[in-house]
Amino acid sequence: MLIGAHVDYEDPLAEATARNADVVQFFLADPQGWKAPETRPDAEALRASSVEIFVHAPYVLNLASTNNRIRIPSRKLLAQHAAAAATVGASGLIVHGGHVNKGEEVAVGIDNWRKALQQAQDKGGLPTRVLIENTAGGDNACARRFDELARLWDAVGEFGVGFCLDTCHAHAGGEKLLDIVDRVKAITGRIDLVHANGSRDGFDSGRDRHDNLTVTNNEPGMIDPELVAAVVRAAGAPAVVETPGGVEGQSADIAYLRAHQ
Ligand SMILES: [Zn+2]
Repeated sequence: MLIGAHVDYEDPLAEATARNADVVQFFLADPQGWKAPETRPDAEALRASSVEIFVHAPYVLNLASTNNRIRIPSRKLLAQHAAAAATVGASGLIVHGGHVNKGEEVAVGIDNWRKALQQAQDKGGLPTRVLIENTAGGDNACARRFDELARLWDAVGEFGVGFCLDTCHAHAGGEKLLDIVDRVKAITGRIDLVHANGSRDGFDSGRDRHDNLTVTNNEPGMIDPELVAAVVRAAGAPAVVETPGGVEGQSADIAYLRAHQ
């Protein structure tokens, strides 16, 4: 099983070496901004590397939004990041499931997802596979609760998208980790990547605060790291930790997951 971490975008290969990671994920631009990615001087080295690469799209991107001023630039940003991700040889572009605003129908957001992917397909398709990630919070999310995820997949599955399962988001979003891989695969048929994270918050809290797997606070309601390791084993997909603590904290989390494969 390939195991690694989300790392800083400056020098992902050096970060991989520092953590003994088989796989790295990074942003190609400011995750809170709308700027297009810049050409990377290390693109060829990343492509040629034996380290598997995943790219995470900016958080501002929301393909479900009913707001034109978010939805339209989100489609543009998706195309830009999918193109840039291809230049570094990425196996996938992780995009959050997105949401509509309070009082709006999630079904409209799901239809906006379908339209975005239809438009991308009509323009020749995206050069990197989009991996839709489950999210932790909000009552109007497209991929927090799995009943909505099933509706989303009915709408977008035909476009060849993949799925990224985040254990922190599932736990905080109110989906139990026990048997979660089977429940996801019954909906999506696939898991392409696991975000193997602990949570600083309780089950169904709706909060998104990642925690380490190895430095647990032992508070009741937090994720048992054994469960995270079991998800990684069952998924049979690469896993990255998006956990705090830099090289030290993430290296320990990676070593924990390896020891429990
Ligand atoms: Zn994640």
